Amino acid sequence: MELTGHIFNIQKFSINDGPGIRTTVFFQGCPLACRWCANPESQNRFADQARLLDDDRCRRRVMTVDQVMAEVLQDKPFYDQSGGGMTLSGGEVLQQADFAAALCRAARAQGVHTAAETTGFASPQRFQMLLEEIDLLLIDVKHFDPDKHRAGAGVDNRLILDNLRAAAAADKPMIARIPVIPRFNSAPEDAQGLARLLTDLKVTEVHLLPFHQLGERKYQQMGVPYDYDGVDQLHPEDLAYYRQIFLDTGLECTFL
Ligand code: SF4
Repeated sequence: MELTGHIFNIQKFSINDGPGIRTTVFFQGCPLACRWCANPESQNRFADQARLLDDDRCRRRVMTVDQVMAEVLQDKPFYDQSGGGMTLSGGEVLQQADFAAALCRAARAQGVHTAAETTGFASPQRFQMLLEEIDLLLIDVKHFDPDKHRAGAGVDNRLILDNLRAAAAADKPMIARIPVIPRFNSAPEDAQGLARLLTDLKVTEVHLLPFHQLGERKYQQMGVPYDYDGVDQLHPEDLAYYRQIFLDTGLECTFL
């Protein structure tokens, strides 16, 4: 039977998901349960409620590798001109690791640069399968402390850190992406611990994603509780101290 993937969206002309102009393929499904998640319809635990969303944000499709590639390759001239390519994102890409790896193999066969944004929460075998097929790893790093990670994201980070160490040992180019979340990881000591962790992992570049409320309405539409209801958004100007901690550690650090 032909391999298929559950795809949430395909976004063209992405400029924040790796170098150059890219097409970002969003995978449906996520085993984490981040309390601030802006895409709760991606989470496995809310799969039934996702149907209640009233707009086209829930554009789930079951697609073959060839079908996805047909859309991705439409913009090949832009990738070639800009140094761009294809980025896989989620949800959690590693939940469909076979399909993700097959997609990246097909892209590389056409000379398309491949990147994947992932939490790294998967078995070492699944992680390795994807790692071998990508040129750039965009790794979501939420917290260095296993208990705090579990409290915020529903799972602890031991598996994630093991996979990250494997990526570092393989010298895979990596960019860390940190969602900066009030009441979870926005304190200076959180930034210091994260900076230490990333330095140990030989990561040199960090993107900070300040907390926003773009997902708030989805919780209302889906009728599920939202722990961050009414919490103020963060802005880069609120987080100068936070960024400075990474800069002082010698890391390149920008806001997305
Ligand atoms: S990893 Fe991303 S998609 Fe999954 S629950 Fe957390 S914020 Fe949501």
